[in-house]
Amino acid sequence: MSLTTVIRNIRTKQKIKFNPPDRPTAVWTGKDLLDGKPVTALTIIFQTSGCRWNNCTMCGYVYDSARLPPSHEDLMKQFEHAMARCKDEEFILKIFTSGSFLDDSEIGPSTRIEMLSRLRENDRVKKVIAETRPEYVTDEKLSEVREALGKRFEVAIGLETSNDMIRKDCINKGFSFSDFTGASEVARRNNVTVKAYLMQKPPFLSEGIAMNDMINSINDAAPFARTISMNLCNVQKGTLVDEMFERGDYRPPWLWSAVEALKVGKELAPGTVIMSDPVGAGSMRGPHNCGKCDDDVAEAIRIFSVTQDTAVFKNLDCDCKELWKKVVELEDFTFGAPLVK
Ligand code: SF4
Ligand SMILES: [Zn+2]
Repeated sequence: MSLTTVIRNIRTKQKIKFNPPDRPTAVWTGKDLLDGKPVTALTIIFQTSGCRWNNCTMCGYVYDSARLPPSHEDLMKQFEHAMARCKDEEFILKIFTSGSFLDDSEIGPSTRIEMLSRLRENDRVKKVIAETRPEYVTDEKLSEVREALGKRFEVAIGLETSNDMIRKDCINKGFSFSDFTGASEVARRNNVTVKAYLMQKPPFLSEGIAMNDMINSINDAAPFARTISMNLCNVQKGTLVDEMFERGDYRPPWLWSAVEALKVGKELAPGTVIMSDPVGAGSMRGPHNCGKCDDDVAEAIRIFSVTQDTAVFKNLDCDCKELWKKVVELEDFTFGAPLVK
């Protein structure tokens, strides 16, 4: 049975609660870097018809999508609702759709252009970052966006790993590293920057292999991305990763592995901004260490993300670090089955 069939079967079993179509799935403010300085970032997750691919092993975003494709008016109301949430004098706007902002079946061209034109008029918005799969990054689409927006634009692509075998057999992502580099080239010639999302510890990998894959991926992706954002896998409901977790076959990454990947990654790619927001850190379904040190280590990762200074990791320690080193050493012999919860 193919991974796609397994994932489809899991999807059909889920009970989905739908939200009103004129409300975004989520909106929040946080921090990001703009020209090396920390600045407010407003994040919007639009409620759309959802990702056209919808086949990744760790992705539960499909359950955030709308029952019926939202109308232009619904999407504009979602936009207005979200924009009203940020009062700062200047900020970056990050757009997610639980899919691809540049896919016309999620956000129609006229809706996209109206949103971007409004952002053009809004002087408080300094830069717009939008998530998309690489197949929607075309010269035509980007020149349309650049013309409507008239300010800095970045495409954020969920590359996950630079290793085609891991992306296919552990994530089922449905595109290749060369699709990503091709999209990056299209972006470069349209004066659009690229952010690459990488995934720490997809299923079926040992702690050590996953950590080394992250380090290699940072090194490989850096020439094609101005920013790399490292997502530490957390267990989302209704996914293959969730089923494996419930059976004891999957453990989210150790925070120590993330620290190591950030330290080595920054050494390998000093000119690239490398960030990570350890969502769900300290919980069993999120990246975690022993329970005692999780808050401190997660906070250090957040501080690194806005300073890019690995010195923040220097004095971090805990008794569990030795255990983590043993896990990294021995888990390859269990073929990825977790040794420690
Ligand atoms: S491409 Fe992105 S949104 Fe679509 S299924 Fe994969 S992770 Fe989820
Ligand atoms: Zn600890």
